[in-house]
Parts: sequence; C-alpha cells; structure tokens
Amino acid sequence: SSVVDWARSDAYHNSFLIPTDKVLDFAVKNTLDQGLPDIAVSPAQGKLLNLVAQSVGAKRILEVGTLGGYSSIWMGRTLPEDGVLITLEINETHAKVAKENFAKAGLGDKCKVVLGPAYESMTGLQPKVPFDLVFIDADKRSYPEYFVEAKRLVKQGGVIIVDNVVRYGQVHDMSVNDADTVGIRNLLAYIKADKDVEATTIATVGERAFDGFLYALRK
Ligand code: SAM
Repeated sequence: SSVVDWARSDAYHNSFLIPTDKVLDFAVKNTLDQGLPDIAVSPAQGKLLNLVAQSVGAKRILEVGTLGGYSSIWMGRTLPEDGVLITLEINETHAKVAKENFAKAGLGDKCKVVLGPAYESMTGLQPKVPFDLVFIDADKRSYPEYFVEAKRLVKQGGVIIVDNVVRYGQVHDMSVNDADTVGIRNLLAYIKADKDVEATTIATVGERAFDGFLYALRK
C-alpha cells in the first residue's frame, strides 16, 4: 500500500540497533503514568543524541526542555565520572518526574534539573568551563533567544542541536503563522546572518512523524 507505517519502520530498525532498556522503559512509563504529554524524542533520536555526545566526548551538556528526562538519560549516560548534564524545565511536575527517572537511572548525581523559565536560567549561567553540547527542545517560539544563549554557553567546536524545526514541513509555508512556526523561521534567519555557526536541517520521519533536527557547529 502507499501508506507507510513509519512507526513500524522505526521499530524494525530499532530492533537491530537499539536493545530494550529497562531504565528507559521505566522513564517512559513513569512519565506517561504521571500524566505528562507523550512528546519526548523517539528512541532512534535519543540514540542519535547519545552518539553525538559520545562523538564530541561531551563532559558538560546543557538541555533546554526536560519533560520526564528521557532525552537527558540518553545523553547523560554517556558522561564520564566528572561529567554533568544541566536540564532546564519550567514545569514543577515535569521536573519532579525527571528527578525520579534520573534516580532510577543511577544518574541522580550527574543530571541536574533547574526549575524555571529556560531563558532566565540560561542567562543566569556563567560556567567556568563551557558546554560541549546543547540540546534545545522547549517552547519553539523562544528558539532564537535560546540559540543566542546556547552560542554563548557552548565551547568553540561544540555542537547545538535544535529539535522540531520542520513541523510537518510547515515552516516554509507562509500561510502558517503560529508563534512556534514563526520562532523557527526567525531562528533560521538569525543563523543565516550569523558568522559563529554552520548548520544544517535534517528532516526526519519515524514514530514522531514528520519533523527534523537542526545541527549547528559553533566555530
Ligand atoms: N527533551 C525532552 C525529551 O525528549 O525527553 C522533551 C521536552 S518537551 C518536548 C518540552 C519541555 O519544555 C516541556 O517539559 C515543557 O514544560 C518545557 N518548557 C516549555 N516552555 C518552557 C520554558 N519557557 N522554560 C523551560 N521549559 C519549558
């Protein structure tokens, strides 16, 4: 048939590449059981974040948008003994659930949730050592502001990954004008005029349907 079941396509690939994982299964179940929305990255995307963190040898990771800490766990488990992941979350319940999931994952010491509006949390960060990797996955309308702060906080040669930049291919469609779509457009315009990063969008399809990551290298 012409209707492709992308969730099954993901499941097929995952069956070869991503072993079942009790820690992540607990995090997913605990997150949904406590009524949080089902909007974490997919397993394949989580694994990609994990591989990028390993590839850049990340010791310090910043995440914007925690939810139940699913993507945090994927990245946080790559950290060395003295590594740290700071994840920013505005919702108290989400932060609480994420902390439970980190504890269950044995990452309670390495993964720290900062409760509050992410922009204020970011501007308040003055790290002695910059971050190696930043993952932005919160309110899309604020992406340009988050990206500017991410650039300040990441090291030269570090990576910034931004989720949900394709939005069913609606970002290019000027008849779509909700604040989140406009936020992505403004981010793209910002990067075009910016000399500090090189970036590309990779559109993806899978169990999270049609969307995409923007991958930026801080020069
Ligand atoms: N990264 C998570 C994962 O893949 O497991 C998913 C994050 S979810 C898509 C977005 C999160 O950003 C939600 O938990 C939401 O409460 C949070 N959020 C929304 N606006 C925010 C803001 N202004 N500051 C901090 N967090 C915010």
